Amino acid sequence: MESSASPDMIKEVCRKIERLGFNTHLLQGHQGCAIEVTGGDRPLEPRGIRAQPGVKDIVFSDQPYRLVSREFKPDNTVVEIRDVRIGGSELTVMAGPCAVENRVQCMAIAQKISASGARVFRGGAYKPRTSPYSFQGLGIPGLEILAEVREKFGLLIVTEAMDAETIDLVAQYADIIQIGSRNMQNYSLLKSVGKKDIPVLLKRGMSATIREFLMAAEYIMAGGNHKVILCERGVRTFVDHTRNTLDLSIVPAVKQISHLPIIVDPSHGTGRREQVIPMSRAAVAAGADGLLVEVHHDPVAALSDGPQSISPEMFDQLLREVKAINGILNGIRI
Ligand code: PEP
Ligand code: MN
Repeated sequence: MESSASPDMIKEVCRKIERLGFNTHLLQGHQGCAIEVTGGDRPLEPRGIRAQPGVKDIVFSDQPYRLVSREFKPDNTVVEIRDVRIGGSELTVMAGPCAVENRVQCMAIAQKISASGARVFRGGAYKPRTSPYSFQGLGIPGLEILAEVREKFGLLIVTEAMDAETIDLVAQYADIIQIGSRNMQNYSLLKSVGKKDIPVLLKRGMSATIREFLMAAEYIMAGGNHKVILCERGVRTFVDHTRNTLDLSIVPAVKQISHLPIIVDPSHGTGRREQVIPMSRAAVAAGADGLLVEVHHDPVAALSDGPQSISPEMFDQLLREVKAINGILNGIRI
C-alpha cells in the first residue's frame, strides 16, 4: 500500500480480496503497510485490486515462505514477555531440568539459575520419551510446581505441550509453550497453538530441512499467532561422538530468510555435558538470540537427560562467557 493510504482504503482493499475467496494478513512496516494474500483456489486476478485507491503495487511471490519471511517483514521480530525480550540485542538463556521431577528439585535449580542471572525457567511436566517405560513427566502436579517457581523466583516458565488436548491446560501455567522436535510436523498441534495468544518455542525436527522447519513456523503464524521462537536442537547424522549434530549453520541461514528469533539447545544438540559450554559459546558467536540449556543440581540422579545436564556452577560459568561474547558482538553487529 502507498504510505499515504488511509485505514479505510486498506480495509476496503482487504474486503475486496476476501470477497474473492482469499485470506489477508496486514504486515506493518516502518514505511506503511503491506497486505499479504494467501489461500484461494486460483491465482488472484490483479487488475481490479491494482485500481483500488491506496494500492501501490502487487507483487507475486514464488517463495514457499510467507509470514515467516523477511520479504514480508524486514525487521527482526522481538517476542516480548513481561520485561524479557527474545530476538533483540539481549541474549535470552532458558535453563532448567529436562523434567520436573519434584518440588525440591525444581526449587533448588531455580534458586541457583536465578542467582546466576537467568530469567527463564524451562522444565517439562509432559515428556516425550523414546521408551514408554521411561519417566513420562508428572503432568498436572508438575505444572503446579512450575507455577510455584514462577511465583517464588519471578522466572518466566517454558514447558512442553505434547498434544492439542492439553494446550489450554499448559497455557494456564506457561509463559511460553514448547513444541518438541517429535511434534514439529504435527500439523493439528501446530494449528491449535497457532490459534492461541501465547509465545511458542518451536524445536526443529531431528531430520527437518530448513524449509520444513520454517513451514512448521508458518503453520503457527498462519493461524494468527506471530510470537514464534525457533530452536535448533541438533539433527541426526552418522556421527557417534555426540547424541545429535548441532547444526549451527542454520542460525545465519534462518536469519537470512526469516525475521523470527532463533535460539540454540546445545544440551540435546550434543547430549554430552562437557560439550555444552563450548557449543553455547559457538551458538552465540553464530548469531543465536539465546540458548536453551538443561541444568540439574544432581545430574547423576536426574530422571531424564542426566548425561547432558550441566551443574548450576557450570551454568554460572556458561552465562558469564556467553554474555561476554554477546557484548563483543553487539559492538560489531550491523
Ligand atoms: C526437551 O526439550 O527436553 C526435549 C525432549 O527436546 P527435543 O524435543 O528437542 O528432543
Ligand atoms: Mn531433555
